[in-house]
Amino acid sequence: MAEKLNNYENTNRLFDKAADVIGIDEDIRKILKTPFREVKVEVPVRLDSGDIEVFLGYRVQHNGSRGPMKGGLRFHPEVDFDEVRSLASLMTWKTALVNIPFGGAKGGITCDPWQMSQRELEMLTRRFTTRMGFAWGLHRDIPAPDVNTNAQVMAWIMDQYSQRYGYTPGIVTGKPLELGGSPGREAATGKGVSIATREAARDAGIDLRGARVAIQGFGNVGSYTGKFLSEMGATIIAVSDASGGLYANAGLPIKELFDHTYEHRTIEGFGQGEALSNEDLITIDCDILIPAALGGVITQDNARQIEAKMVVEAANSPITTIGDAILNERGIVVVPDIFANAGGVTVSYFEWVQNIQAMTWDEDHVNTELEKIMVRTYNEVTAIMKQRHVPMRTAAFMIAIQRVADTEKMRGGF
Ligand code: NAD
Repeated sequence: MAEKLNNYENTNRLFDKAADVIGIDEDIRKILKTPFREVKVEVPVRLDSGDIEVFLGYRVQHNGSRGPMKGGLRFHPEVDFDEVRSLASLMTWKTALVNIPFGGAKGGITCDPWQMSQRELEMLTRRFTTRMGFAWGLHRDIPAPDVNTNAQVMAWIMDQYSQRYGYTPGIVTGKPLELGGSPGREAATGKGVSIATREAARDAGIDLRGARVAIQGFGNVGSYTGKFLSEMGATIIAVSDASGGLYANAGLPIKELFDHTYEHRTIEGFGQGEALSNEDLITIDCDILIPAALGGVITQDNARQIEAKMVVEAANSPITTIGDAILNERGIVVVPDIFANAGGVTVSYFEWVQNIQAMTWDEDHVNTELEKIMVRTYNEVTAIMKQRHVPMRTAAFMIAIQRVADTEKMRGGF
């Protein structure tokens, strides 16, 4: 079987699989599969060379029936409507699954931030905010960081938006602490991934103490996931990023690698461990494999070679539908993205709540509430898995789709 689906079709295939099990009717299905609003803007920026480059920026607001739409902004050469649409719909299912009062959105700019100066990135972000800001709002759509965007980018957005609409820190989450960011937000996605891994490993009979873990992608999500899992006793034997990979059979010194990467934004130049390619990392002999970079890295071409007992989707959509079917068939546990990486949007929700109330929570409170939501969600998902004999991904989608379908019906208007 050839794998020719685009990203959005891939996500809708997962949606259909779960919608079939719960018997969602055709009318509601059509609504839930159609994005609410899609906006594309040109973003002209004068480069340091003096030339003008026109970038393209996107925002897809997938569904807002349960609350303001929420989702990250990605700066990457491969950003397009198809990718953003797929990620926006995942946000709808993710926020519904963890039961926070948000809908789903996603956005991005097609650009290569590694080739751009700080000034160019700031101009790009500000111009994008000016052109896209009318579609956002504290109670409409709230962006956040994603691949290649960080607290500084969020600060520029908050400043640019506030210049036009008045002081609005809650218009973005993932801001620096000084500007209304939440304690614990930067680490939240990785913390959530580590909680999801801990819960699922226990049920899969994998002892986290001494478990051999490989992580693809060592940016915000991958590096914090590695740090927390290593604190829980796991041995991180391999990590990689866009520059390549590192391997150490006895385990990499994660704290030092985390500090190196925090400072240099790459694992390159760390000087310890053997070199490893990104392809080899995926099929390495380990207990737990954690893709934490981009989508579509586990496919029909490598899913049969995966040696891990469990794959935890820290990235969004790292496994294609056929790759997923192969892993299921082989009995490899897959902890799906809409649960595994939901810690980020959960703490983004806490940040938004704090901004609206002009109050600050302490980090312990943030982490306690995050832990509660991740564990409660895991228990809800595994209860459905057992009742309906479905994989974890289908169970997670079933819960999420039912919640969104219910609110769509209650609100009506069609
Ligand atoms: P990031 O930009 O901080 O890090 C991305 C990492 O992936 C970097 O280490 C980069 O070098 C690496 N990478 C890029 N291309 C690669 C390639 N071809 N091979 C291997 N590694 C490659 O981004 P992030 O915020 O850590 O996001 C990572 C993933 O997690 C994305 O799929 C994102 O959608 C998802 N996610 C992020 C958050 C969040 O809060 N940041 C929340 C939920 C999901």
